[in-house]
Amino acid sequence: MSAIDEVLAANEVYSHTHELRALTPRPSRRLAVLTCMDTRLSIRTMGLKEGEAHIIRNAGGIVTDDALRSLLVSHYLLDTEEFMVINHTDCGLMHTTEEDLRTRIQNRAGTAAVAPAFFHAFQNIEENVRHQLQKLRTHPWIPKSIAVRGFVYDVASGRLREIADAPQS
Ligand SMILES: [Zn+2]
Repeated sequence: MSAIDEVLAANEVYSHTHELRALTPRPSRRLAVLTCMDTRLSIRTMGLKEGEAHIIRNAGGIVTDDALRSLLVSHYLLDTEEFMVINHTDCGLMHTTEEDLRTRIQNRAGTAAVAPAFFHAFQNIEENVRHQLQKLRTHPWIPKSIAVRGFVYDVASGRLREIADAPQS
């Protein structure tokens, strides 16, 4: 059985109780989290339960145009008031470059492609988090009243560490 078939079978069982039926689309903690798709990060690592926060995920936990779109919908349509950006140690996008990634994929696929324009590879994780925060804080549609905070999740210790706005001098 394929993984998708297994999911369909599990969903059939879930639907008998449908425990999350009572949840509303509005996150009860008024929180939106943008983070990586990495398997080692989950709502459990943040002490969250279903229904409490929007979890927006992409490779790296990057403020892409689409992540920004989701965060705007989260705030303006569904009333979230705090944004958390989380990158993590040992991320697949670290210690590589745009060119290296593109070349590797192109070689395996056997053809070039115009999209995606960027993979958002990065070397310095703290700098990368600050870059994402800057993209959010300078956006004209993100009100100053929204708390925007950035973190690095350490996959070895399981701990979140807050990243200050400017590098410590
Ligand atoms: Zn990652």
